[in-house]
Amino acid sequence: MVDIDAARIIADQLAAVRRRVAAGAEAAGRDPSSVRVLLATKTQPLDLVRSAIIAGGTLIGENRVQELVEKGPGLTDLTCEVHLIGHLQSNKINQVLPWATCVQTVDSVDLARRLAARATDAGRVLDVMIQVNVSGEASKFGVPPASSRELAARVAALPGLHLSGFMTVGARSADAHVIRSGYARLRDIRDATAGSGLAGTDDAIELSMGMSGDLELAIAEGSTMVRVGTAVFGDRQAR
Ligand SMILES: *Cc1c(COP(=O)(O)O)cnc(C)c1O
Repeated sequence: MVDIDAARIIADQLAAVRRRVAAGAEAAGRDPSSVRVLLATKTQPLDLVRSAIIAGGTLIGENRVQELVEKGPGLTDLTCEVHLIGHLQSNKINQVLPWATCVQTVDSVDLARRLAARATDAGRVLDVMIQVNVSGEASKFGVPPASSRELAARVAALPGLHLSGFMTVGARSADAHVIRSGYARLRDIRDATAGSGLAGTDDAIELSMGMSGDLELAIAEGSTMVRVGTAVFGDRQAR
């Protein structure tokens, strides 16, 4: 059952996030429509995810393969893209492919090759992004910045994959300069790759960066996709 009050709160909070995105874009001299909002739905039950899509959400991001598989079938009647934004182990690729339109967390050639093989077998082309660990924090997944351009070039050349851009989780820091410089680094990597002329790199323009707490900083550095969880859904649910 959809809880009407919960649905209304989600719609209001999504509207508030869109206002933040628009204000951030305008402050940065950017077109607000150049920044899309991906709803980070980890731990949120299907009915709330559906409410957010009905309220106008068009992009869903799941962290865990298990949640992707659980909620995916309940979203097929709605129009939305579903991205994987959490770490992917290669033994779970088969489970992901039916539900994900994009895997944002490619961080090795090995994972990319396996994804490419499965996508090719399934007769489709899968959108992927390269996850870069811009902050260097040991707890974070992602390829180091120094290796990111080479990985991007190799992924872009694989059949079955379409490289659409780059993703990062920003630095855990109270210092806005530290956070922004990480985001600027991802933009530099994107610019170097999309401008390289190498096969398959032309479309690698997305910058998936910024979350509830720092989306304005990410937009100031060029984010094209902010990933927002708590600002829309409130606290995460215990599972
Ligand atoms: C949870 C999560 C988000 C959203 O975080 P909030 O702070 O709740 O907005 C974004 N990206 C990733 C990869 C996440 O795991």
